[in-house]
Amino acid sequence: MKEYLSKNPYSGELIKTYKVDTQNAIHSKLEKALAFENSWANTKIEERCKLLSQLADLLLDRKEEYAELMTIEMGKPISQGISEIEKCAWVCDFYALNAEELLADEIIKTDAEESFISHDPLGCILAVMPWNYPFWQVIRFAAPTLTAGNTALLKHAQNVTGCSLAIEKLFVDAGYPEGCFQSLIVGHEEIEKLIAHDGIKAVTLTGSEKAGKSIARTAGENLKKTVLELGGNNACIIWEDTDLDMHIDTMVNARMQNTGQSCIAAKRFIVCEDIYDSFLEKFLEKVTSLTIGDPLKKDTFIGVMAREDLAEELQKQVTDSIALGAKVQLGNKRKGAYFSPTILTDVTTKMPVFIEETFGPVAAIIKVKNRNESIALAANSRFGLGSMLFTEDIDAAMDIISDIPDGAFFINDMVKSDPRLPFGGTKASGYGRELSREGILEFVNKKTVYIK
Ligand code: NDP
Repeated sequence: MKEYLSKNPYSGELIKTYKVDTQNAIHSKLEKALAFENSWANTKIEERCKLLSQLADLLLDRKEEYAELMTIEMGKPISQGISEIEKCAWVCDFYALNAEELLADEIIKTDAEESFISHDPLGCILAVMPWNYPFWQVIRFAAPTLTAGNTALLKHAQNVTGCSLAIEKLFVDAGYPEGCFQSLIVGHEEIEKLIAHDGIKAVTLTGSEKAGKSIARTAGENLKKTVLELGGNNACIIWEDTDLDMHIDTMVNARMQNTGQSCIAAKRFIVCEDIYDSFLEKFLEKVTSLTIGDPLKKDTFIGVMAREDLAEELQKQVTDSIALGAKVQLGNKRKGAYFSPTILTDVTTKMPVFIEETFGPVAAIIKVKNRNESIALAANSRFGLGSMLFTEDIDAAMDIISDIPDGAFFINDMVKSDPRLPFGGTKASGYGRELSREGILEFVNKKTVYIK
């Protein structure tokens, strides 16, 4: 029988082996979800919201335990893991408070006596999730989707199978009926078969562009809706009037948090020439001062990457960019899954660190002559998750909102997710929205009701 190995990327130790689900196990989980679908859809919204509040409480009670599990499985610095779990509780609280209003019928005046949109659940939704935020990515999907009356099956990344099973147990412990949320331990082929199954009504994926294309292809063949949250290559634009002392910590955090493994991280720093030297000096100083080390220690900021192959891939992107003329200001050292915080300057649009997503602690810095050039370069990407701009000139920043072809534009802050705001991308970053009103309405049937 096939097994998944869970390995600590920091120590190299084997944590546990997990048996992959047999055909029978997959079938029985799917049957359980389907058998239960109607009763969950008909459960009162108040009850669904109450369970979500209980889930939030349990998350907070167990935040240290879950953070440690993430650290051991994928190397996340433990303090950042604790924050991740707190954020999961926040998204649960947000929907527990607001779901009833967000899902209420939407009255629309027409020639009818009464006409409105009702929001019915779709049924069983399949979620394919990545390892970088093992709890957040799942809860961000599950909190609104289950509260809207759907059930869910989760296929998590292989290297965080322990987190996947812990999340399944969390739902049961919070009082959710069995069958509402279940974890599958399966490979890619099984996902194809599941998407084709009549019982699966829609699929959501957070992951790479390659995975997105494959899942969207299968879903398309089977006419199933998809939401895709894929990679990003966010620009961090720094205009000449930026207050660097105020914002430099945010800029460093925007690139280096989660050891750089975030889709919304600032990856391309596009800096106007008049402020370039002082930006580089401050940025180098701050990145050099980050605490690197054992991710289980609370003061560690930079740990290891989640897998050695991901660090190797990052090293290749850096090496290939250096061959094309990029200059190493800091870092570029790898040992196993560790990749040191790296700063590259003299980056051009021909280099992998500009063109591709760098999913690790590597900052690509590009000097530009003026504001116009900075906007054109920021928009010069296959990806479209978000851009951030630092400036004191808010009026000028407001004027260029429509020049940013991304899902998000943050002025004087890093791009970040917030349960109250929609989250998602354009272009190769995917489509659909998570969080907020948009997120809870992704997996519902927006039914037109017309009464004459
Ligand atoms: P993947 O996209 O391969 O993995 C993400 C999830 O998708 C995992 O659960 C994976 O399962 C699953 N998956 C991948 N391909 C398929 C498929 N064809 N059918 C069904 N499920 C699939 O990411 P990687 O871990 O390989 O990371 C590679 C790169 O992807 C990163 O360097 C980064 O650029 C990007 N990425 C972006 C993320 C984001 O937040 N947008 C998150 C993670 C990665 P399994 O583990 O079994 O392979």
